[in-house]
Amino acid sequence: MALRTILTDSDPALHKVCRPVTQFDQRLWDLMDDLKETLADANGAGLAAPQIGILRRAVVVVDAQDRMLELINPELIAQEGEQEGFEGCLSVPGRWGVVKRPSRVKVRAQDRNGIFFEAEGEGIVARCFCHEMEHLDGHLFTEHADRLYTNEELDKLMEQQENKGAR
Ligand SMILES: [Zn+2]
Repeated sequence: MALRTILTDSDPALHKVCRPVTQFDQRLWDLMDDLKETLADANGAGLAAPQIGILRRAVVVVDAQDRMLELINPELIAQEGEQEGFEGCLSVPGRWGVVKRPSRVKVRAQDRNGIFFEAEGEGIVARCFCHEMEHLDGHLFTEHADRLYTNEELDKLMEQQENKGAR
């Protein structure tokens, strides 16, 4: 396993459509292990292969039980509702935006041995599924956000919301 460098949004790798994974071999297993190690080190909620420069359809998402779920060739097969909330990205450090996502999603993907399975997510996990799958088509959350906020602005907004809630 190896810690990989997370590319930032100026890198062309983040704006390309990734190819499906066709070989479920040691090379893929190394990639998945590296994604997990790099995600854990960055303390993020999800990471997609193009973020470490590999243009293949593979992502890792932290689920509601705090486990890292490996999704290879993931497809959105159902979605429900709508949520609006702040979103960030390890490839867009220190910037946050308000993004609309479905509140529940169902995804079909393959595991590292090529076995198909379905996974469901709601709330933050649904947001994360959508965000990571978008990376595989070369898209970033910033394309859906009206404006981007800095860490300081986000802290201030959160404080204001907390104060409102206390009243
Ligand atoms: Zn991202």
